Amino acid sequence: VKGNVLEIFESFQGEGPYVGAPQIFVRTGGCHLRCAYCDTPESWTTEGSAAWEADALAAELERRAAARRFHSISITGGEPLLQAEFLADVLSRRKPLPVHLDTSGTLPERLARLIDLVDVVAMDIKLPSCPGTRADWDETERTLAVAARKEAFVKIVLTRDTTEEEIARAGGIIRRVDPSIRLFLQPATPFGGQEPPPPERVARFRAAAGDLCVFVVPQIHVLMGWK
Ligand code: SF4
Repeated sequence: VKGNVLEIFESFQGEGPYVGAPQIFVRTGGCHLRCAYCDTPESWTTEGSAAWEADALAAELERRAAARRFHSISITGGEPLLQAEFLADVLSRRKPLPVHLDTSGTLPERLARLIDLVDVVAMDIKLPSCPGTRADWDETERTLAVAARKEAFVKIVLTRDTTEEEIARAGGIIRRVDPSIRLFLQPATPFGGQEPPPPERVARFRAAAGDLCVFVVPQIHVLMGWK
């Protein structure tokens, strides 16, 4: 199986609980969503991606992992799960480091295909108030139930249009799947006409999440100028 890889690079994780961790990033090409706040629109299509053989990509990751100390491999996109079969093929050959998977949280069956080979799932919950997302609460809950088989956390991008009802509903899903799952509220990086909400609303969103473990973390890689 061949896969579409937009880029492989080395940097620090910029989101969630592993902010600052040195990682080897694999950015896959292709996404089925068009979130208005998306900061990687170049990953929406496979244009610009290179076709990699699974064995060649596995060898490349092993080579980079041997050359320097990294915390983990970050598989990001685009939506990596559109290529779940390819990624399973890569990771079942060689897995030199723990794997941190970013996903839109919309493809439960594909995540199930890959979950045994992944160590950390960074799962978005897409909200209906954001144009371009496909917000389907049932699909979200089924995806989170698969993610919870490994270490998982949820990320929600906050925009000026986010509502407390949406956060409460997302919180309900987390509580039903596993109330210990951490919720990262990520004020939107101004991009694509999107703006973060004012600070007082962020406090209300935290309250709307009830007793969940809530963190508020912006995109650190953007602030720091990391790739
Ligand atoms: S799922 Fe991710 S890559 Fe796809 S459009 Fe949304 S933010 Fe961009």
